[in-house]
Amino acid sequence: MNPGSTNIAHNLWQIRATLPANATLVAVSKTQPVDAVLEAYREGQRDFGENRVRELIMKQPLLPGDIAWHFIGHLQTNKVRYIAPFVSLIHSIDSLKILRVVNGEAGRHDRVIDCLLQFHIATEETKFGMDLREARALLGAPEFSSMKNVRITGVMGMASFTDDPTTLHREFRSLRQIFDEIGEAYFKGSACFRIRSMGMSGDYPIAVEEGSNMVRIGTLIFGERLKLT
Ligand SMILES: *Cc1c(COP(=O)(O)O)cnc(C)c1O
Repeated sequence: MNPGSTNIAHNLWQIRATLPANATLVAVSKTQPVDAVLEAYREGQRDFGENRVRELIMKQPLLPGDIAWHFIGHLQTNKVRYIAPFVSLIHSIDSLKILRVVNGEAGRHDRVIDCLLQFHIATEETKFGMDLREARALLGAPEFSSMKNVRITGVMGMASFTDDPTTLHREFRSLRQIFDEIGEAYFKGSACFRIRSMGMSGDYPIAVEEGSNMVRIGTLIFGERLKLT
């Protein structure tokens, strides 16, 4: 038996046992082989997350058709067309420009693609995402209201890479507040705007305490990732 993969079932059930009933677990399968994805699938896992288009479009045809694929990485406009036929939720919308392209490609496939607005909540400079002002400009743009093939269903954010619980609580709470403000201002009465995608292997319990209802977990399920060179 391969000692690196035999714990997937156990890890999955352990994480599920700690999640509230309203929280969706996205199993982040980036760099993991198809066999590992299948092992999780056999345990009933259906939501999987990938952060590279090339890897996602290689894996998707090899795996069961009822998997909901989440795109969680930075998305380039010229790559959208490869995932538009099947992607279930794009977590990383950070500009009107990328949303425009997703809308166009979704239209070509007669689809409405669900999207999350990604916010920059970490103190680190390197993470992608918008601030509240940029999101307001996007949501208030006349062009946005005319987009028929995308639907904004919530927000996503990544906290700083730290063990400090105070920092993590503060950053996740800021995303929760952004969700509440945007929901009130732009999505009042819409049941579709409901996703708060926050929390990864190292910080998801704190994210859940701060109101996460979608966690993206890789390492804790599949073990350490193979290093990409
Ligand atoms: C890799 C990744 C995750 C999962 O990270 P783990 O620490 O392995 O749980 C979650 N979200 C995003 C955006 C990622 O790129």
